Amino acid sequence: MLLLRSFCLLNRRQTLVSRFIKPTIHYPSKYSSFSQNTLPKIIDKYDDKITINKCKFHTTPRLDIPPYFALLIRPITRVGAYLFGRLLKKWWSRKSPQEKEIYKEWLSARKTKIYGLLGFALASLLFYYIYHIETDPITGRSRFIILNKEQQKALSSLAAEGILEDHEDSVLPPSHSSYRRLNKIVKQLLKANQDIPSIAEREWTLTVLDSNQKNAFVLPGGQIFVYLGMLKLVENDDQLAFVLAHEIAHVLLLHSIESLSRNFLLDILLAVPVAITWFIIPSDLLAFALQYFGVKLTNILITLPHNRRAEQEADHVGLQITSKACFDVRQAVVLWAMMKQLSHLEIEPEKSTWLSTHPAHEDREKYLDTILPEAIDLRNQCGCLRLRLHDPIAAYRAKTAEQHLKQFAKRGYVPSQTK
Ligand SMILES: [Zn+2]
Repeated sequence: MLLLRSFCLLNRRQTLVSRFIKPTIHYPSKYSSFSQNTLPKIIDKYDDKITINKCKFHTTPRLDIPPYFALLIRPITRVGAYLFGRLLKKWWSRKSPQEKEIYKEWLSARKTKIYGLLGFALASLLFYYIYHIETDPITGRSRFIILNKEQQKALSSLAAEGILEDHEDSVLPPSHSSYRRLNKIVKQLLKANQDIPSIAEREWTLTVLDSNQKNAFVLPGGQIFVYLGMLKLVENDDQLAFVLAHEIAHVLLLHSIESLSRNFLLDILLAVPVAITWFIIPSDLLAFALQYFGVKLTNILITLPHNRRAEQEADHVGLQITSKACFDVRQAVVLWAMMKQLSHLEIEPEKSTWLSTHPAHEDREKYLDTILPEAIDLRNQCGCLRLRLHDPIAAYRAKTAEQHLKQFAKRGYVPSQTK
C-alpha cells in the first residue's frame, strides 16, 4: 500500500489524560518471534483512571450479524462463473443442430421451474442482504456487513500474523524513540475517546516497522501498523495524530469489512452475467474484453464512489478524534496543503480524483477546512487549552513556492525533475 492508502490504508497542550507510566508488559527479546499475542498492548498501559470526555459522538444502537462463510465463496464465484460459461460454450458447440433443438425444447418445457428457482435465489439473496444491514453507531449510516465481531477479530489476527511474518526483521522495539513517540500519540488519542464503545472495547496494539514506506494502517481488530517513512512525511505530532486518527476512524467505521461485504455481494450478483457472457460470446477475446470493461464499470460506478465516501467519513471522524485528544486540528489542513505542494512539485505523485481511491489532496484540504470550525468547537468543549493564536494554515499558505521547495529540501525531498 502506498502513500495514498496510508492516508487511508495518513506542540500540543497537556491534558488531564496525558500522563502514563512506563509499560510493565514483558516484551520478547527477539522480534523474529513476534506474534499477534505478544504485541505490546496500548490500552492496558493506562495508569490513571480513564477520563471519559463529555464531548461524545451521537450514537445509535448497533445490530450484530451472524453467518460466516463469505471469504471462500468469493474467489470460487469469480473463477467458477468464468469456467462454467466457457465450458458450457465448448460443450454446446460440440452438439449437432438436432441435439440443440432437443435441449431447447427440454428447457422450454421447464421454463416455469427455472424462473421459479431464479426468483427463489434472488429472494434469498435479498433476504440475506436485508438481514445483514446494520446502522453505524457513529455516522448513523446504514451499511451491509457480513462478518460478526468475532469473525472480524479472527480475520484481523490472521492478517496481523501475516504482516509480522513478512516484516519480522523490521519490527522496532518499544524502546525505540520513534515507537515511544507514536505510542504516546496513540495513547493520547485512544484515552481521550473512551466514550466511543468501539474504541473502549478493542485491544489496541502498535507495531512500528523500520521501512521507508510512507504508510500507516490499522486492522479491524485494532492492530496499528506504522512505517517509519510516515514519520518522515509529517512535520509534527499534530499531523501524525491526525493520520493515525484517520486510520483508526476507518476501523471504527468498519470500512474494510463493508468493502469486503459489498464485493462479496457484487461477485454473487455478477456471477450469472459473467457466465452468460462467456457462454454466448463466440470469441474468448471479446468475452474477456467485455468482462474486463464490466469490472472497470462496476469499479467506477460502485466501488470508487464508496471508497471516496469512506475517505471523507474517516477524515471527518478522524478529525473529531484528534480534536477530543487536544491536538492542534489545524495541522490536518496544513498536512493536505503540504501534500498538494508535494504533488505540484512532483515530489509525491497524485492520481486523478476520478479514478483514485482517495479524494484529490486539494479536495481533502478544502473539506477539512470546511469542517475545521466544528472540530475546534469540539476541542474547546473537551476542556483542551486554547489553540495558539499563530495560525499554521495561514502561515503555510503565505509561503512562496521557493520557500516550500527549500523546506522540502531540508527534509530530504527533491523534485523528480532534479533527481
Ligand atoms: Zn483513508
